[in-house]
Amino acid sequence: MNMQRRPGFPAQVDAGRPASRQGGAGAARPAPSAAVAPARGVGLDSAAVRARMVQRLAAAGVADAALLRAMGEVPRHLFVDTALANQAYEETSLPIGWGQTISKPGVVARMIELLLGAPCAQGGAGLGRVLEVGTGCGYQAAVLSRVAREVYSVERLRAMHDRARDRLRPLRLANVHLILGDGMLGFADGAPYSGIIAAAGGEQLPPAWCQQLAVGGRLVAPVVAADGRQALQVVDRTPQGFTREILEAVHFVPLKSGIA
Ligand code: SAH
Repeated sequence: MNMQRRPGFPAQVDAGRPASRQGGAGAARPAPSAAVAPARGVGLDSAAVRARMVQRLAAAGVADAALLRAMGEVPRHLFVDTALANQAYEETSLPIGWGQTISKPGVVARMIELLLGAPCAQGGAGLGRVLEVGTGCGYQAAVLSRVAREVYSVERLRAMHDRARDRLRPLRLANVHLILGDGMLGFADGAPYSGIIAAAGGEQLPPAWCQQLAVGGRLVAPVVAADGRQALQVVDRTPQGFTREILEAVHFVPLKSGIA
C-alpha cells in the first residue's frame, strides 16, 4: 500500500495528549509559541474579519450553528500565502500552489452543511468519522475537525501534504489525521465513515468511497454530470442501498489518481 503517515486505529482522541505518532496534525514537534498566530496581512483584527465572513454566510442561508462557529474560529488567512491573506475572508477561491485552489468560504460551508445532514448525524449524534479527499492547504480539514469526531484527510501531492501538516500543527487538532495517498482508494483504515467529502471532482464516484460509507452516512462530492459540467452529488447509504441527488454546478480541480 502506498500510504504514508497512516494513523494507528482506533485513532487517539485524548485531548491532553501533546504529541503522538498517530499522524494527528498537532503531533510530532512541540507547537511553536504562536499557537494563537498573529493576523498577518488581514488588517488589525482577523477575528472581526472572520465574524463578518460568518455573518455573510449566515445571510446566504448557512444555518448550522456549530459550523458557523467553526468557520468563525479557524484562521483561514494562515492557510494561504501571505500575499493573499488579505483576501482570505472574501467570498472567493484562492490559489494554494501546484495548480490547486482553496474553495470560497460559501462552498466550504455548503458542502460541510450537506455533510452534517447525514442521517446518522441527526438527533444530536453529530458526525463521527469523516474522510476528506484532497487536503489541499488543510483549511477544510481544520473546519471539519470542529464538527466531526475524527477527520481523515488524504492528499496525493507530497509537497501539499507536507505543507498542510506544517500549517495545521500550531492549531493542535488531535482529531485530524493527514494521509499521503491516493484518495480515489478512500482510506480503508478509518472506514466506515459517517461522512465523505471530496475537494476534487472526477467523471465518476470512485467505488471505494461508497464501499467505505457507513449505513446512515453521506458522501458529498463534485462529479462531472451528463452535460460535461461539474455538479455537487450527495449520496446517502441507507439500509436498502444508495440514494443519489445531483445539486448545483460547481468548479473543483480534477480528481487524479496516484501520488505525485
Ligand atoms: N479542501 C482543500 C481544497 C483542496 S483543492 C482545502 O481546504 O484547501 C483539492 C486537492 O485535492 C488538491 O490538493 C489535489 O492535489 C487533491 N487531489 C486531487 N486528486 C486527489 C486524490 N485522488 N487523492 C487525494 N487528493 C487528491
